[in-house]
Amino acid sequence: MEHLFSKLESYYEEMVEIRRYLHQHPEISFKEVNTANYIKAYYEKLGIEVTGGVGGNGVVARIRGNKPGKTVALRADFDALPIQDEKDVPYKSLVPGVMHACGHDGHTATLLVLAKTLNELKDELAGTYVMIHQHAEEYAPGGAISMIKDGCLEGVDVIFGTHLWASVPTGVIQYRTGPFMAAADRFEVSIQGQGGHGAQPHKTKDSIVTASQLVIALQQIVSRRVNPVDSAVVTVGSFVAENAFNVIADKAKLVGTVRTFNEETRTFIEKEIERVIKGTCYSADCSYDYVFDRGYPAVVNHQAETEFLAAAADLVPEVNLIEESEPQMGGEDFAHYLQRVKGTFFFTGAKPLNTPIAYPHHHPKFDIDENAMLIAAKTLGTAALNYHAFQSDETKSFDPAKA
Ligand code: MN
Repeated sequence: MEHLFSKLESYYEEMVEIRRYLHQHPEISFKEVNTANYIKAYYEKLGIEVTGGVGGNGVVARIRGNKPGKTVALRADFDALPIQDEKDVPYKSLVPGVMHACGHDGHTATLLVLAKTLNELKDELAGTYVMIHQHAEEYAPGGAISMIKDGCLEGVDVIFGTHLWASVPTGVIQYRTGPFMAAADRFEVSIQGQGGHGAQPHKTKDSIVTASQLVIALQQIVSRRVNPVDSAVVTVGSFVAENAFNVIADKAKLVGTVRTFNEETRTFIEKEIERVIKGTCYSADCSYDYVFDRGYPAVVNHQAETEFLAAAADLVPEVNLIEESEPQMGGEDFAHYLQRVKGTFFFTGAKPLNTPIAYPHHHPKFDIDENAMLIAAKTLGTAALNYHAFQSDETKSFDPAKA
């Protein structure tokens, strides 16, 4: 591992340069044409086998070791968000209203430099390394599903991915076996009442009053119907019934999100929401339209690969704490890869230094500690290199220190 580590360290400045260049030139989901070209050009310059336009703007590179072995995929996403960058830093976004507010710029820099390093070591390597640079993680249906349909997982034995995580200090790796991040779905309810004069409610069907009752009634799905040892969220994030102050609104619209960790609860809530809408609208004599859009499924990490990753992280000198994470209610389309191949998704602590507050992901002042990229690269690299010696057989215990 020393070889890998020292090489990565020698490219740390380049990693920072790449990250800052991407940070200044962000592109939103499904529009990341220049970023995809930048990634592809990086591989072409190094003479690494690379394919662009995978399932959209996705880019996939392959490094073949000199010896036979398993095929390990590493994934980094590269889209930004429609958020105005409000940081006061020299590498602030140059694109008005668009910003890397989730650290995907850092993921990309990490994977590019790790790939460059693996390529230099390829004569000593076993197996194949597939670098999956994924577009459009932030916006459903996401880029993962189309990249998979376009073959990015062909021949892949295992996949690892990490998210730089700004609320966790640098030097900490967080992992979790089983459900780690939630399924994230969207629902929309349009309530059709009967508008009329604000002074004559008895001649109307008030869509605002009905929608208000519905907002309250929906809260009881999680609190009264879902098993309390399971976890779920039903949030109404938008309530629109634009109207004049003295008119009873003809229609109202609610839009919300549902988060769950298993398919059973997910389907249960989808049906329960409609039952509640039906009852509420029946009693108010209103009609409705209900749409439930399934977003990303839950990220469910495979046990043996998660334990393997935690053991690999232990070999990275800068990692000073490896801990189990709580399940997260946020969504991630890494879920799709894990439904098809073994693997694990984990957090690399990246809390910015010297700031009183670590702004949360998707905040206009979000930033990361760039040192965390080196830790992410070392951890992913260690896992990738050791995997060829790893037996996913539960009966064999594996010591990565001896690999
Ligand atoms: Mn993200």
